[in-house]
Amino acid sequence: MSTTNKITVATTWLDGCSGCHMSFLDMDERLIELAQKIDIVYSPLVDAKELPEQVDVGILEGSISSDDDLEKAKAFRQHCKLLISLGDCAVNGNVPAMRNQFKLSDVMDRAYRENVTLQPQIPNREVPALLKTVKPIHGEVRVDVFIPGCPPSADAIWHVLNELIEGRVPDPSSVTRFGA
Ligand code: SF4
Repeated sequence: MSTTNKITVATTWLDGCSGCHMSFLDMDERLIELAQKIDIVYSPLVDAKELPEQVDVGILEGSISSDDDLEKAKAFRQHCKLLISLGDCAVNGNVPAMRNQFKLSDVMDRAYRENVTLQPQIPNREVPALLKTVKPIHGEVRVDVFIPGCPPSADAIWHVLNELIEGRVPDPSSVTRFGA
């Protein structure tokens, strides 16, 4: 908990489309109510870009596809008391995991050589290295709460956060499902 007794929350996206975070923002005016109960201490949605040492709730969107994703997932697990997988990509790999049926070298060739008209080349600087296969978050680190949906609705995210704020263990299956 923060010194204000608000629940501290950190979020980030890994290999996702940011749609789950957009769904978070779709809580609209409820965000004002939420802001009285939680502090977002790290997120693409806020200016704070350094993950604090201790966070109450971590929320991860997207799957683990690159070494950068893996590093972030491990950091969230290390620093967050409770870790949430938000959305189908985080929960089961979803769209990013479609590449798992192909060899990584074929995927790279398709993206960077065959489908470009200018300077076809595989990047080897400033682009995080892709892992051989895409994994859901729990394929690499322990996850406490799974919120399926592509994206999960704002109502589902609201429900889960409220349950946590009230000190209850949320049951997302009552408010969302895969592909919802
Ligand atoms: S679950 Fe759907 S909305 Fe969320 S990151 Fe994946 S593709 Fe985007």
